[in-house]
Amino acid sequence: MTNKKWHVLIVEDNPGDRRLIEVYLQVTSLHKYALTFAENMQQTLSVLETQEFNLIILDLTLPDSQGIETLFHVRSLHPEVPIIILSGIGDEELSINAIQSGAQDFIVKEHLDEHSLSRSIQYALERHRLLQELKKAHEWEEHLAFHDPLTDLPNRFLMMDRLNSTLKLAKRNKSRFSILFIDLDNFKNINDSFGHTIGDELLKNVANRLKNAVRESDTVARISGDEFMILLQDVSDEQGIDAVAGKILFELAKKLLIGKLEISISASIGFSIYPENGNDINTLIQRADCALYVAKDRGKNTFQKYEDMFEKDIFISKMGKNLLVNAIENKEFLVYFQPQISVKNRDIVGAEALVRWNHAMYGLLLPHSFIPHAENNAVQHLIDDYVFTIVCQEMQSWHEGNFPPMNISINLSAGQLMKKNLVEEVNHKVRQFGIEPSQLVFEITESNALSNLEMTIENLIGLQHLGFQIAIDDFGKGYSSLSYLNRLPLDILKIDRSLIREVGQNARGTIILSSVISMARKLHLAVVAEGVENGEQFDFIANEACDLAQGFYFWRPMPAREFATLVFSSPEARVAC
Ligand code: C2E
Ligand code: MG
Ligand code: MG
Repeated sequence: MTNKKWHVLIVEDNPGDRRLIEVYLQVTSLHKYALTFAENMQQTLSVLETQEFNLIILDLTLPDSQGIETLFHVRSLHPEVPIIILSGIGDEELSINAIQSGAQDFIVKEHLDEHSLSRSIQYALERHRLLQELKKAHEWEEHLAFHDPLTDLPNRFLMMDRLNSTLKLAKRNKSRFSILFIDLDNFKNINDSFGHTIGDELLKNVANRLKNAVRESDTVARISGDEFMILLQDVSDEQGIDAVAGKILFELAKKLLIGKLEISISASIGFSIYPENGNDINTLIQRADCALYVAKDRGKNTFQKYEDMFEKDIFISKMGKNLLVNAIENKEFLVYFQPQISVKNRDIVGAEALVRWNHAMYGLLLPHSFIPHAENNAVQHLIDDYVFTIVCQEMQSWHEGNFPPMNISINLSAGQLMKKNLVEEVNHKVRQFGIEPSQLVFEITESNALSNLEMTIENLIGLQHLGFQIAIDDFGKGYSSLSYLNRLPLDILKIDRSLIREVGQNARGTIILSSVISMARKLHLAVVAEGVENGEQFDFIANEACDLAQGFYFWRPMPAREFATLVFSSPEARVAC
């Protein structure tokens, strides 16, 4: 028997029965009891309002309440307290009903004695204990469904729920909130070097540091492995979020002692803000994640707010083969034409075909953002094939429309130059569209040629033989080796804009430019100055007797239709500058 007193409420209108229960309870030596009596429902309810009990012994038939209603009244005030029903003979059905409605046991009054009461109390308490345990297990199960078992932080589901409620509230109150994505830097190394037990301890510690770094009303969740998310409620301005992010980095950077190990960690944080970075939760999450990617990319241990341009940058940096092949199949590439003018009379005599990717989300993408990926994934030759076909179609339509003859330049990639059947393919295509080979110029760069020099030379000789012209592009960029001028079959030399830019800027650079032009002339190559951006540069190359010029000073690359309109316009309109 423990010394603790058991508070028992006895609800019984019959004084004899009350006395009997009191006597039996004193005789049962199970517990020490402190007894309270109530004779009717009114008394019962007023007692229950002010006192706590460990057990209630309840007669269901009272002057002011009868039947199962009596139980409901009592349980509505104290649903957790075990209850034993006192019933009369013939009330078994009602008693069973009472047990189904939450009572723990029943005693038929006629059978009431010291033993039946003692047994019933034990049974009721045990049953109550089991039910409480079951309830706790159920609550724990529910808790686990919404919490991370390692850190006990809310998990992704609970976070999503909070985010959705916060969004609704923010829309109504016109308030702002922020989503922070936090990823530990190089956490894999910690797991690999110290094992998962230390890794787990560290994650628990990080969870606590994160919770301590924000307000009670904010939510910190563990999303996966070493990834956490924080919902900052009611943020006023970006500086406030910067301050929280800075505080988190500061807290996480503090040395951590696990056992005898001293571990240092850092983290990267990306965040987005409602409403400026998105109106729905998915967009805000995706953008916080995007900012996190940029924070990692910028050297880790830093925080970064989402900026609109990030998505495009990340799209470009992650561009893969399937995406490019799909874009080719969906005809998302466009061919622009940049006019080339005769230096002598400034009239348009040709154009360079330049590819663009017209992306549904990111607009017009320039070659530097996708060609390197297309080359790495060995699909650039497919883009070139596509460009070549479009150029042929355009040239055919210009020819049919009595377009003045124009020389069109096409850039060849390393992949094209390595093709064994390049010459046949090209020949087949120009015949198919009825194009005069002398009107097509194939541009190659030194680095593309170098990928397979023998094959390149063979292909270029084949193309030249059929009447096409060959230009070496970007001459003067990087390490232009003069020996290739000798080995490659060339008709045209295009001077890179980095050399043209030297005019008026750098005396030595200008001397090199003159020398290149003079060397090209001596090799009987036509010279195209590329990237002419101002009158001073144009005067210089005109003076040096370059043949053609191309650059923003005259025209920028333009869609085929615009180019056709320009070439068809009056000679005055066509003359550049
Ligand atoms: P590129 O063949 O040297 O083409 C000339 C580039 O210089 C073009 O850039 C053009 O827009 C740019 N440009 C022309 N005038 C000026 C100027 O005055 N100032 C400046 N700053 N730039 C000027 P774009 O169109 O971005 O093309 C870049 C490169 O991508 C091309 O350099 C070429 O190597 C490659 N490329 C373009 N289209 C194709 C293609 O269809 N196939 C292949 N394989 N490569 C292509
Ligand atoms: Mg070119
Ligand atoms: Mg070039």
